[in-house]
Amino acid sequence: MKTISNIIFTDKHVLIRVDFNVPLDDNFKILDDSRMLAALPTIKKVVADNGKVIIMSHLGRPSGSYEKKWSLKHLVKHLSFLLKKDIIFCADCVGEKAISVVKKMKNTEIVLLENLRFYKEETLGDSSFAKKLSKLGDIYINDAFGTAHRNHASTSVIAQFFPDDKFFGLLLEKEIETLDLVLENQHKPFTAIIGGAKITGKIDVIKALINKVDNLIIGGGMSYTFVKSMGYSIGSSIVENKKLSLAKELITLAKKKGVNLILPVDSLNAHSFDNNSNTLTTSIKSIPNGLIGLDIGEKSISLFCEIISKSKTIIWNGPMGVFEMSNFEKGTKEVSIAISNATKKGALSLVGGGDSISAIKQFNLEADFSYISTGGGAMLEYIEGKSLPGITSISA
Ligand code: AMP
Repeated sequence: MKTISNIIFTDKHVLIRVDFNVPLDDNFKILDDSRMLAALPTIKKVVADNGKVIIMSHLGRPSGSYEKKWSLKHLVKHLSFLLKKDIIFCADCVGEKAISVVKKMKNTEIVLLENLRFYKEETLGDSSFAKKLSKLGDIYINDAFGTAHRNHASTSVIAQFFPDDKFFGLLLEKEIETLDLVLENQHKPFTAIIGGAKITGKIDVIKALINKVDNLIIGGGMSYTFVKSMGYSIGSSIVENKKLSLAKELITLAKKKGVNLILPVDSLNAHSFDNNSNTLTTSIKSIPNGLIGLDIGEKSISLFCEIISKSKTIIWNGPMGVFEMSNFEKGTKEVSIAISNATKKGALSLVGGGDSISAIKQFNLEADFSYISTGGGAMLEYIEGKSLPGITSISA
């Protein structure tokens, strides 16, 4: 692996792609700085070596042009606080402005470039845009695991302009090492817990997991599609009618491979999608018309937690219910506690994905997992065995 540990960056302009895609409130206050914290070791290493740090990132989903809401300027003060250093903000990420700011840099200085996605060329993976970005550094480091599965200008295309001077950052290195450890040395029973609103986007990973795990627990909104596919009544719960036959296929595939696919047995239902709505727990196979399943029920919690408590390797992505509403957080909370208890007993636990991470923060359990990945989609694609452009472009 082309890591930076043995490289000395003195006098070099080091262009680092990080993932500073942090959640902000309406007043641009950072709600969760984990992604910024995760990128600090690489930045600090270049500063300590007497190099010049040029940071590039995206923030949110701007539509290819400037939007105040998504300016990286909102992160300057906090980054400066975290690094205990002044940060020079450059209001563009390419062109004359960026070149002139970078040219004036002294050793140990840090420049934060404006949001890459203010240019549509970034997500299009445009090669001439990547070339313009590459002009800002002598060395390129990719430390953005959260976007490693994207073939974007700054995450992979740019690497070709640094044939001998491209490296994995310390975060990316740690993410890859941890995922490899889980995939290659899993202790059994190996349990994957997949939740969240929809099956779409997680089909391939579910298929891949069926080839790897002993237990596959499916919770959250997506479980209702599985239950409906078996012919049961799920009331007005979230469902993907176009995925019913696929859900059935996945159940059959799990059976064929001898994998224990576990669905919720009961459901905590509400009359409306509202925290204060009256609730009624029923079997997940007979939810009355008009009721919406918003969390797993008590029996499912016991069933899931029992399996988790006996597991030695655990991967988790996606909440068990609408945990953002306090009356429907219990399933996700109890599952997180069960994983944290299993970890304390020696299991290796890996969690990834924005919602699962927010959930464990909400429950103050961050310290109790073996590893929290900064990538949701990237983590799942890596587990599937797909090659991630952000990784292959450096390895090539
Ligand atoms: P995803 O992005 O697919 O991982 O989905 C995460 C979202 O799924 C969270 O915002 C949850 O509120 C939502 N979710 C979980 N369970 C349910 C459910 N039973 N009905 C509707 N949404 C759900």
